Formats: sequence, structure tokens, C-alpha cells
Amino acid sequence: MQIVEHIRDLRSARARLKGRVGAVYTMGALHAGHRSLLDCARAENDAVVATIFVNPTQFGPGEDAESYPRTPDGDLALMEVAGVDLLFAPAPAELYPSGFQTSVSVDEVSQGLEGAQRPGHFRGVATVVAKLFNLTQPDAAYFGQKDAQQVVVLRRMAADLNFPLEVVVCPTVREADGLAMSSRNMFLSAKERRAAAVLYRALRTASDAWEAGEREPGVLREAVRAVLGAEPLVAIEYVAVNYPESLRGVLMPTGGPVLLSLAVQIGRVRLLDNMLLPRALNTREGLTQALGAPLV
Ligand code: AMP
Repeated sequence: MQIVEHIRDLRSARARLKGRVGAVYTMGALHAGHRSLLDCARAENDAVVATIFVNPTQFGPGEDAESYPRTPDGDLALMEVAGVDLLFAPAPAELYPSGFQTSVSVDEVSQGLEGAQRPGHFRGVATVVAKLFNLTQPDAAYFGQKDAQQVVVLRRMAADLNFPLEVVVCPTVREADGLAMSSRNMFLSAKERRAAAVLYRALRTASDAWEAGEREPGVLREAVRAVLGAEPLVAIEYVAVNYPESLRGVLMPTGGPVLLSLAVQIGRVRLLDNMLLPRALNTREGLTQALGAPLV
């Protein structure tokens, strides 16, 4: 694995990669969720390029990029074992030198859900990913279902700005009790960590209702809220049912697919989770079709 920190070194190393190139973009503090993206990229491409960059522009005023978890030694070992060919791990000034003043904003699909809770977040994400697309020039870019709105925003950006790449979506990797793996889970106390299993239980309850024939979006949302509400440590931010392509809210019963998503606060930790309904769509193929397929 070649590790580079500077853009000029990345460009020359990227030019030497042969064949189809898959890319995985991370903020480090790597876990099995990141590993699954790397494994998928490795299996489907001739070469894999990965990045580690805690992007300051996607953190809001109350959110501190400085306190984002960092595990550099473990990250390098995981990238190496996963078969990454080229790792780009720049310092912030490499991507945002003084005088930087351009940003990418994707309007409609950035507005609801996470965008409503975290103003400016998706502008930061779209801007850095546009830069990383330009710098790494992948044939396919791999993203996790866990950040479903992020994929929808980036898919729209890739279409609108003519990035010649495929957006691939890999299923959320979970702990044994169903909690979606996240770098932020390490900030949960033991008690909060136990409480956090309720997120997946809540999604499962609604998806059981869907599989039993329930299609009313309000009823599905209430099923999630009822399960979450039974856990005193959980403060609900939103529970939503949206069309995966437009992210518009589902107002009437529909045959699907729909994206059921939630955000909660447990202690000082914000947690997200989501599921596509019907449940059978939560695979690489189903997710990629619903959230990542090319837009015309
Ligand atoms: P992050 O390092 O949190 O910015 O995440 C980098 C990539 O890994 C994003 O595409 C995430 O959606 C993805 N990812 C994070 N957690 C998981 C997970 N539990 N399962 C699958 N993908 C994940």
C-alpha cells in the first residue's frame, strides 16, 4: 500500500494504477462498516484507492471536528489488510489552502432529514467529495447505507456535475444487537450503549408491520416512535418515511420502495439509522438501485 499526503504525489500514484479503480472515502476511526466498503471495492475492481480525511467543512458550529475520534495506527493496519493500493491522508491545509472559496451545494435532496438538523453539513460533504472524485478519479465509488441521504446527495451531484463514475451502496454493518457501527459509538457509556440497541428494534418493528401489509406512512412512523419512546435515554430528533430518489416525504400509502430513517440523541451522541422497505431491498444490489443508480 502506498500512502500519500500531498496532492502532487496522489496524482502521480493515481496515474500509475491500472484498470478499473474503486474508491472508498472515510474520516478514519475505521471499523467493520468501513471494512465492508473496502472489501466490496476490492472484489469489484483492479485497484482500490482510499482516503482518510476528517473534513472540517462538514462540521457545524456546535460540532467539533477536533474531537472526532482518531485511531491512525489501527486505520493503516486495516487499510493494508483490506488490500488498499493507494491511501490518501492529507492535512486540512492540503485540501483547503488559504484563499479557498468554492463550494458545491446540492439543493433539494440536502434540505430535509440530516440537512434540516445540520445546516451546511451537505455543502461540506458535497464539496469535499467533489474534490476527492476529481483527485482520485474512480470508476466506482463505494458508500454506506448508514448515511443514506449522503448517498442520495452525492448521486445527484455526480449526475449534475458529470462525474463519470458509478455510485455503489453497501448495506449497513451492525453490531450483534443490531446497533449500526459508527465511529461515534465509542462515546456511548455502557448504559447508553445498551439503550442504543432500541434503534434497530424500532426499525424492525416497522418493517415487520410493512411485511404484514401496513403501508400508511404515519402508522409506520408511529410504530418506530412507540418503540424508541419506551427507552428513557433516547431523545428523538426525527422519524421519517421518504421516497429514496427524491427524498420527498411519503404522504400516501405506496408499494415502495420507501426509506424509513431516524435520528436520535443518546446522552451527547447523535445516532442515525435507516432501512429500505420492503426489507429484501437492503442488499448491495437493492440499495444501489434505490439510492445510487445513475440519474437521467
Ligand atoms: P465515515 O468515516 O463515517 O465518514 O464513513 C465513511 C463511509 O463508511 C461512508 O460511506 C459511510 O456511510 C460508511 N459507513 C460508516 N459506517 C458504516 C456501517 N456501519 N456500515 C456500512 N457503511 C458504513
